[in-house]
This record gives sequence, C-alpha cells and structure tokens, in this order.
Amino acid sequence: MRRKLAAGNWKMNGTRADLVEIDALIAAHGGATSEVLICPPATLIHAMSGRADARIAVGSQDCHAATSGAHTGDVSADMLADIGASHVITGHSERRADHGEGDADVAAKTRAAWAAGLLAIVCIGETLADRKSGDTLKVVGAQLAGSVPDGATGANTVIAYEPVWAIGTGEVATVAQIAEVHDFIRAELTARFGADVAGAMRILYGGSVKPANAAEVFATSNVDGALVGGASLKASDFGGIIAALDAA
Ligand code: PEP
Repeated sequence: MRRKLAAGNWKMNGTRADLVEIDALIAAHGGATSEVLICPPATLIHAMSGRADARIAVGSQDCHAATSGAHTGDVSADMLADIGASHVITGHSERRADHGEGDADVAAKTRAAWAAGLLAIVCIGETLADRKSGDTLKVVGAQLAGSVPDGATGANTVIAYEPVWAIGTGEVATVAQIAEVHDFIRAELTARFGADVAGAMRILYGGSVKPANAAEVFATSNVDGALVGGASLKASDFGGIIAALDAA
C-alpha cells in the first residue's frame, strides 16, 4: 500500500514571517493520514524543520550533486540533511529551464540525495510543444529513463509528473491525460525495476492543483498525491488539498 503524499513547493517565495503557515498547517492537518511535505526556499529549511515536528516533513527544492567543494552558491544534500531536510526535489522543470539541467544532472543529484539519506522527488514532464507534436510519452519515457538512477526504490524515490504547460498556468491536465501518463510511468517502472519496486513507488501529479480540482485529480488512476506550487503557500489552500487526498 502506497502512502499518499501531499508535497508543497514554495519555490522562491517566503520569509521567516511566513513560518506561521506551518503552525496553521499542523494545527489543522497534523493528524492527516497522508504524508505532508513542504519544500520552502533553502533559507527557511532549518527554521521550518525546527518548527514542524514529525507530523510535517521539510524538504529542499534542489541540491548539488557533489558532497562539498568549490561550487559557489550551491548547497549539498548532506548540508540539507544536516539542517533537517528529509526530501529533495530533483529535476523540476524550472531548474531544467532556468539552469539548463539535463537528465544526467538530475540523476546525479538524485544519487547525491540518496547518499545523504534523503528521499528524492524526481520531476518529469512534457512541454506544450511536445504534447502538440504527439511526443508526450516519448519525452516522459526518456526523462524517466535518464533521470531516475538504477537503485531507485519506493523508499528512496517518488516520481512527480508535471506537464510544463500546466505549472503555474491555472491549466490542469484532464483526467484522461493524467491517467494516460501515470499508467505509462507505472508500466515503465515495472518493466525496469519489477512489479514490487514499481508498485511501492509513488507517482505524484503536479500542475495547478487547487482545493477545487484536487478530488478529481486524486481519483485518477495511479495518482498517489500531488506536488503543489502556488496553492501550497497558504495553509488554508494546501489544507484543502490535504483533506481531499485523505478522502481519496
Ligand atoms: C510546481 O511548481 O511544481 C507546480 C506544480 O506549481 P503550480 O501548482 O503552481 O502549478
């Protein structure tokens, strides 16, 4: 049985004043049956993890592939574990676009996350141009193969399917579109890692998930939760998504 996961990605938003959202989230949803995770900016991880307690996990939005060294401005997975992170997002489409990260970079960061004892949430997803040209499954399959290293298990890896055209746009993929890709990902994982490992690995959907559309998304085949951007910033919004996931 896969435990459902509601993961929030605050992106480059939030200062210490926003940590009250964590208090509100714990007060309202500390007893959620789903796993709840917030990935704030790196500047807030330490303070948030100190405030969160075991009911809410805190993660990072990225890590460097190396453990230490001459990489100005970067943060290693070991450093993130040291300040209380338990998860790290790798390969988010904004990292791929803004920083030119390719599948090999994402795989290296994912391996670094595992080595530090962190669970990696590996993001994959097609652009609008890919979808229009009918290449969605080809692109998603190639990213999955290239970004997820050998050795992935349900305990060290979560896959997040995030169509780039649905992120931050208010446009949610249809249930049929989500089901097609999630079923495909499960089948690809099964072919590569076997039924036991694939069956234990959670697959999240990400792309403009809100309280109003969450129930429909969570009722979709092979959807084990969501990676949420904008609607994770406020406990009231994210709480609605957690409640929908608990009820799914
Ligand atoms: C994301 O950043 O991973 C994301 C899904 O963003 P949003 O929910 O705002 O579309």
